[in-house]
Amino acid sequence: MGVFEMPEFDRHEEIVFHQDAGTGLRAIVAIHSTLLGPAAGGCRMWAYLSSSDAVSDVLRLSRGMSYKNAMANLAFGGGKAVIIADPKRPKTPELFEAYGRFVNSFGGRYITAEDVGTTTADMENVARQTRYVSGLARHAGDVGGDPGPKTALGVYLGLKAAVKFRLGRPDLQDLRVAVQGVGGVGYHLCRLLAQDGARLIVADVRAAATERAAEEWGAVVVAAQDIIHQDADVFAPCALGAILDAQSIPRLRAKVVAGAANNQLTLDRDGLALHSAGVLYAPDYVINAGGIINVFHEYHGVSSEAQVQAAIAGIPARLTDIFERSRRENRPTNAVADELARARIEVGHSRLVA
Ligand code: NAD
Repeated sequence: MGVFEMPEFDRHEEIVFHQDAGTGLRAIVAIHSTLLGPAAGGCRMWAYLSSSDAVSDVLRLSRGMSYKNAMANLAFGGGKAVIIADPKRPKTPELFEAYGRFVNSFGGRYITAEDVGTTTADMENVARQTRYVSGLARHAGDVGGDPGPKTALGVYLGLKAAVKFRLGRPDLQDLRVAVQGVGGVGYHLCRLLAQDGARLIVADVRAAATERAAEEWGAVVVAAQDIIHQDADVFAPCALGAILDAQSIPRLRAKVVAGAANNQLTLDRDGLALHSAGVLYAPDYVINAGGIINVFHEYHGVSSEAQVQAAIAGIPARLTDIFERSRRENRPTNAVADELARARIEVGHSRLVA
């Protein structure tokens, strides 16, 4: 199938492939929309099995960023980058410098940051070649740094709103939460949940990550393939996307899905399956916006930590609005969120050009 014909293409403005012979860099930048501002979204480093898998992923992620930034009220459009390489193998500064030159070639139409497989240290190397980068190591008193903990904060607040809405519970004491992936975001989410007395069930493909969760919070560790079907109140996906589908949804026992992973639904219709099964799904790009909110404030360099926290504190109210509309209109939450995001992009754009 050609790229224009892929369902994920969805009116992208621009897709650029880049190869740097000197460093072996192979990267793709996808710009879904610049209607609300420069396209912003992280750079994922992943050992894709084929370049068409990489294209499909970058397109899905970049459209998600348009919707995420619009729903978070940020003057950013949506874009994303992928580097096709195994992040577990040694990385060179030169590779990220080459990536920085690629980012720079967009002249500010695309702003990069870290994502799965890349770190603040990698972004420091990118920053040697371009100023269109955020998520850099934090300087004393500045806003910025690894967006993971801020994403976790937003997910924690959003999860509480979902629990209140679906389960009628005002707090998390003894609530059973199954967390898939205890990495950059999942670890900090577990910490916040444990502080509130939640009972954690965790899975990760890295034994060290689950061992730490068991040691620090008494989390119950289960095999990676079993986490979705645990007897839990909440399922919190914090690993990779496309984990909710026609096979996994019928076996889900939690009544709330609230987690950080991007593109949790394999297909849009999986949102309908969750809705029909009485599972409240917190749309991923609404609940996981804490990191990009942090990136936005860092990039513009004018905010305080308190302002960032206040912006993240807006996430639960946006989710509750979506949950209420979904109940009122008897429609899946993902359909409600997509409609709201598209409307925000159109209305915001007409205001900008008026
Ligand atoms: P990460 O790579 O630090 O952590 C992911 C964790 O998931 C790792 O510990 C990994 O070993 C584990 N994992 C991978 N496959 C797994 C599987 N099959 N089962 C269980 N565990 C598995 O990434 P992160 O930064 O924590 O991001 C997690 C998710 O949240 C990603 O989907 C990312 O796109 C999304 N997200 C992250 C941010 C952020 O600020 N970091 C912001 C928005 C969305």
